[in-house]
Amino acid sequence: MARPETYQRLLPPMRGLAHDFYAFCKTHELRFQKCSRCGGWRHVPREMCPDCGSFDYEWAKSSGRGQVFSWASTDQPMLPQFADAVPYAIAIVELEEGVRMATWVVDVPPDELSIGLPVVVVFDDVTSEVTLAKFRRLHV
Ligand SMILES: [Zn+2]
Repeated sequence: MARPETYQRLLPPMRGLAHDFYAFCKTHELRFQKCSRCGGWRHVPREMCPDCGSFDYEWAKSSGRGQVFSWASTDQPMLPQFADAVPYAIAIVELEEGVRMATWVVDVPPDELSIGLPVVVVFDDVTSEVTLAKFRRLHV
């Protein structure tokens, strides 16, 4: 259920291919572009495959599972809208399909993150129009 429209943090641009990506997030599906010619997955969304140059692709469903590839944590908010979140970490998660995305790991404090930590996607309906794909620890 969407929260009241009190969300104060920056929202992603809802246009072009980014809009398509977030439209799937809104339905709680994590999908990435998959090249129809070479089968390569890609993110962030773009028109052309960086591997073979094809413009043909589908929005293929991800398993939603991955691992922490890297992260950076902060104790000083860069924007006042994040003051209540410090300390926090922006993580790079590598999905099983090979794509990497910048995101949050919602249930792991920054000092407990580790490279290779198994994670799974969760969806955060931050407004009635925007849902963000975040991750939580995957207990295996
Ligand atoms: Zn390709």
